[in-house]
Amino acid sequence: MSCITLAEADDRLSKLKSSGIINYLKKVESANEIIKNALNNSQNPIIAFSGGKDSLVVLDLVRKQNPKITAVYCNTGIEYPETVKYVRTIENVVELHPITSYKYFIDCKENGLPGSKATGKVHGNKCCIELKEKPATKYYKDNSTDLVFTGLTSDESRNRMMFFKRMGPYYLYKKDNYYKAHPIHDWSENDVWEYIRRNNLSYNPIYDIPGIKRCGCRFCTAYLSWKDVTAAYNPHDTEVLFGYTGQASLRGFV
Ligand code: SF4
Repeated sequence: MSCITLAEADDRLSKLKSSGIINYLKKVESANEIIKNALNNSQNPIIAFSGGKDSLVVLDLVRKQNPKITAVYCNTGIEYPETVKYVRTIENVVELHPITSYKYFIDCKENGLPGSKATGKVHGNKCCIELKEKPATKYYKDNSTDLVFTGLTSDESRNRMMFFKRMGPYYLYKKDNYYKAHPIHDWSENDVWEYIRRNNLSYNPIYDIPGIKRCGCRFCTAYLSWKDVTAAYNPHDTEVLFGYTGQASLRGFV
């Protein structure tokens, strides 16, 4: 057996600390604790799965504690084909579909395109409510879901960070009377990739396409870099958007 001196041990520890590994391992431990406590208080838990890297990590963490837990995926109808194909390779995932289609939704005069000021018309999160929230809420209600795990992280926006500061990673979502748990709320993008690498998880191949950093709806205009992402995936997508909306709604796009 080889021994190391105290000084060598200190040196190794400080190298580990500066490389961020201790911080990462603490986050994994804390995520596991959040999951364990939430599961202890639940009869019908579910994992909200988007096909993205963050919810993949949560799916893996949760299923390491209970492999039988079902995941729910909202196929909005405007997903990347890579995402749909990938999600269908994962076991025990229920695929939900909205009643309102994206085309129908944005055709309505009062709606316009999701979110972005560049599109000329702005609405809050109505599109997400129609295409994701409503089908998910119906499923939770029909199945008496009392706990939903998500892959939300505060890394994504300042508002999200403030929200987690106020609510914490586990709370009762009073509106629909179930608990929400966000085990990786304090993880960075690097932490997420580190976990995927260390656990050899097969992730959505959409991330391997240069310029694509998110796996969500293919035609979403609700975030700042939407033009670049649309062009990076397929420049023809802009024509599809024009087809959906007419040029007036796409003011500022070209
Ligand atoms: S992510 Fe964008 S396009 Fe998809 S449902 Fe939400 S607002 Fe609509």
